[in-house]
Amino acid sequence: MFRQNKKLHELERAALSPASPAYTADLKKIEDKERKDVYKYTGEGSAFLCLILVGAFYIYRSVHRQFRLQQQQQNFVMAVTHELKTPIAVSRLNLETLQKYSLEEEKRKKLLQMTLQETLRLDTLINNILISSQLEGNSYKISKEELDLSALMKDVVKNFQGRYPERELQASIQEDIDMKGDAMLLKLLLSNLLENANKYSPKGKSVSLSLARKDGIELTVADEGHGIPDEEKKAVFDKFYRIGNEQTRKTQGTGLGLYISKKIVQDHGGEIHIKDNNPAGSKFIVQFNAA
Ligand code: ADP
Repeated sequence: MFRQNKKLHELERAALSPASPAYTADLKKIEDKERKDVYKYTGEGSAFLCLILVGAFYIYRSVHRQFRLQQQQQNFVMAVTHELKTPIAVSRLNLETLQKYSLEEEKRKKLLQMTLQETLRLDTLINNILISSQLEGNSYKISKEELDLSALMKDVVKNFQGRYPERELQASIQEDIDMKGDAMLLKLLLSNLLENANKYSPKGKSVSLSLARKDGIELTVADEGHGIPDEEKKAVFDKFYRIGNEQTRKTQGTGLGLYISKKIVQDHGGEIHIKDNNPAGSKFIVQFNAA
């Protein structure tokens, strides 16, 4: 375009007769027009280039996102398969042992305890998978019944203590905190947070939980594990997201727990966020409006 523009104006200049009285004025007109055309082509070219770059950026981003999601889904399928098979295999082995041998009372209790732990883990996992697809497909009808959140949380704590008797759990639950909500989902929320606190903190460390009236209703779960780096604090709530990669991760999981937890909190009109616990670990803070 620039070359053509230059040639065109050269021809126009050549056509002028230097003897003509209007020669200088005409020459100036041609030069002005040539300059204007240069600006026009530069502007148009830059606009097109910008459009192409923006388009390319969006295409790249969506392909990249799709690729990441596909990879996360693959990891998820692998993780779920493993998470489903392990508790079943462990429970089966325990039950077969109990059936074949007459064990001492202590050992029998331990095996039953382990089996119970595995079945409850399976229950949480299956609930997470079912609820996440139902909540997304809007096929789950959230009930908004008046409930005693304090009693509900105590129930989950009891379950947790039955599952992990060796884990020290410091629970401070204020009595008679009522709210409108879905009992099953709220139990799943606390169960997910406690499950993570247990999973991501070393054995001897304690986990603490509190439920109190504070700017509405505040539920916190804190652990003394390795914590969550600031740059990951938002991403951990994404679907299938797990920190690290398959090679470096030591724990099994599906990356669904926090995604569902956030969804449950939002569906109850609340907010969830993560802070660093003192001196170590992470603290999940859930806030609901009072009933
Ligand atoms: P999952 O535990 O199945 O991987 P979640 O959605 O529950 O999935 O958690 C997402 C990620 O957030 C986990 O993979 C883990 O890396 C991180 N995470 C969650 N809770 C904690 C915690 N209490 N301490 C440290 N990291 C955590």
